Amino acid sequence: MFKSTDAEIEAIFGRRALEGRSAIVTGSTSGIGLGVAQALAKAGAAVMLNGFGDPAEIERQRAEMAQENDVDVAYDSADMSSPEAIRMMVERAGARFGQVDIVVNNAGIQHVAPISEFPTAKWDAILGINLSAAFHLVQATYGPMRARGYGRVINVASAHGLVASPYKSAYVAAKHGLVGLTKVVALEGAEFGITANAICPGYVWTPLVEQQIDDQAKSHGIARDAVIRDVFLKNQPTKRFATVEEMGALSVFLCSNAAASITGTAIPVDGGWTAH
Ligand code: NAD
Repeated sequence: MFKSTDAEIEAIFGRRALEGRSAIVTGSTSGIGLGVAQALAKAGAAVMLNGFGDPAEIERQRAEMAQENDVDVAYDSADMSSPEAIRMMVERAGARFGQVDIVVNNAGIQHVAPISEFPTAKWDAILGINLSAAFHLVQATYGPMRARGYGRVINVASAHGLVASPYKSAYVAAKHGLVGLTKVVALEGAEFGITANAICPGYVWTPLVEQQIDDQAKSHGIARDAVIRDVFLKNQPTKRFATVEEMGALSVFLCSNAAASITGTAIPVDGGWTAH
């Protein structure tokens, strides 16, 4: 029996399965992105972190990740709503690592409102960060991946890339779009050693979700446990949150040579939610 997901991954793939590879993980200063970056670093890949947050805390995470895993870890503050900033981040990653083998499009934002009240600026921002940024990052890294005959594109979509919920028009549209983009990248890259897959999480235990639970408990005046059971895990048959370590483990697998034929997929990691 393995003590942790990390130990299990190490046993399956060996200590440094991704040694010599380098990755950009967008939105990796917290939550799923941070978990994926940690897993890739643990597997031996150099990693460029990206996202917003307290500079001192980001530097602490960067230095710790580099030291613990004996890999190069950089940080770039590129705003994923800016195609130009994305291109410059890719240039800096190329200059630092020599190449970019793996891109994980994870940065994402959410806004919940009925269609009639949905602010246009929120629609544009969600489409820009959750969908268009992935296109720009793939476009900027695709040529060299193709020339080297290896590339891994992982798009962190959502169960909402496969099914819809009310009041999430922009998010659901962007995540469905991301699943579509994944398929096109997979088809165009198939002959050149480039795979593209979407990870479609249900609810994952992240600081963001924890905060939402507290907020809902307060605003509805109900217990935290009830919010978790009746709101968040209502549609998640396993009745548990997925973990960022599980997202990281799947990402390492998708980057491995063992996953060379897995491409163009949208993999639910949702405790059975979309099996309904
Ligand atoms: P999070 O808020 O903890 O992390 C989001 C990250 O994106 C942060 O690092 C943030 O700084 C970064 N970010 C936001 N806007 C950015 C921008 N303009 N430019 C660069 N970085 C930016 O959220 P999370 O829960 O870890 O979610 C990560 C991804 O997973 C998102 O795409 C989200 O839609 C998806 N997802 C999350 C869940 C869940 O339950 N947590 C479920 C399904 C899908």
